[in-house]
Order: sequence, then structure tokens, then C-alpha cells
Amino acid sequence: MKVVITAGPTREAIDPVRYISNHSSGKMGYAVAQAARDSGAEVTLISGPVALDEPTGVTVIQVESAEQMLEAVLSQTMDVFVGVAAVSDYRPAQALPQKHKKSDSSWSIELIKNPDVLATVSALKNRPFCVGFAAETENHREHALAKMQRKNLDLIALNDVSASDIGFDHTYNALQIFWPEGEKSLPRQPKTELAQALWCEILERFSV
Ligand code: C5P
Repeated sequence: MKVVITAGPTREAIDPVRYISNHSSGKMGYAVAQAARDSGAEVTLISGPVALDEPTGVTVIQVESAEQMLEAVLSQTMDVFVGVAAVSDYRPAQALPQKHKKSDSSWSIELIKNPDVLATVSALKNRPFCVGFAAETENHREHALAKMQRKNLDLIALNDVSASDIGFDHTYNALQIFWPEGEKSLPRQPKTELAQALWCEILERFSV
């Protein structure tokens, strides 16, 4: 089974020294890649910039921007795609070729929409089994279910990022997973163990 996983944040260049990004650590995506590898799958991990060691037994493709992430993903063939990356939704309309010089006036940057990696993969003609993540701070369930439908996903894992002891940049996490016919809670536990539980659920739905 060929599995492609995105992880970490993306970085969107403003100029040669500045960028827009987010707090994603990559821990959850790397843990899912390891869980898939341990089950015997052939895993490609497409990673934004993170401070984690590359897992052994996994092909790692390092990228920076959302556009690079999309290009790397579309260069793969896959049976299962898991989009764990916190892809920047916007990028500067133009990355300046030279460093922007400080002045006394304010500075506005025009942001344009980035491609949605997961939605693009899910819309492919020979689409893989598609798994997404939803990081929500309110109306968690409604937003996750709407996202599963909008992005045409086979499974979505909901992360409550309003809780202070789980989620972004934490070792622990908890997930509520939804698929078109059901749902299940995966309680708070280390991300490595949670990733194994999630991977088991993915395998179960994939083989239905
Ligand atoms: O729409 P939202 O960003 O909340 O969706 C989250 C899910 O979509 C995650 O699985 C994330 O990896 C994926 N995503 C993506 N490309 C984007 C935005 C989100 O692949 N530009």
C-alpha cells in the first residue's frame, strides 16, 4: 500500500528574509507516517520546515511553500493520502526579490489564496482514500462535518485547538474522527500512540 502524508507548516515568502507561517510542529504528521510505516505501508512524507528528525524507512520530501507541497504531492501515486499539514491558506501576492526596507510608514502586504492540497487530491479522477484534519476552536462538530463534505473526504480527524494541553506543538493530542457513516473518539494520549490508533481506523475504513 502506497501512502502519502503531508506534515508541518508551510512558509510563504514575503521577501528573502521574511515569511508567513504558523505554529504547526509536524509531530502529528510524523507520528502518522511512522504508524503507517510500522504497518508495512510504503510511505512518502512531504514535510514543511520542522525541527524533527526524518523518520527511518520513510521517503521524505522537504518543501517550504504550499505550492511546492502541492507539486510534490501531485508527483506521487498513492492509495491513501493523509493531509496533516497546516498549509498556509494565503501567501503574499508577490515575494519581493529584495529585502523590504524599514521606513516610518506602515506596510501592507496583499495576500492571495493558496491552493488546497487536500481538496485538489480528493478531486483527482483516480483519487486515493482521502483523510483530512480539522483544527477548530468553536462549533467543532459542524465545522468538521462540513469540511468532510466540502473536501469530499473519506475520513476527517477533528482537533480541538482551543484546549490548552493538546493540539498544536503539544506532545499529547485527542481526536474525534468522522467518516460518512459514523464517528469515534480517540482520547487524549501521546501523539505517537494516537497516530497508531488513527492509522488502525484508516486501515479499517480503507478496506471496507
Ligand atoms: O480548510 P482547513 O484548512 O481547515 O482544512 C484542513 C485540512 O485541509 C487539513 O487536512 C489540511 O492538511 C488540508 N489543507 C490543505 N491545503 C490547504 C488548506 C488545508 O491540504 N491549503
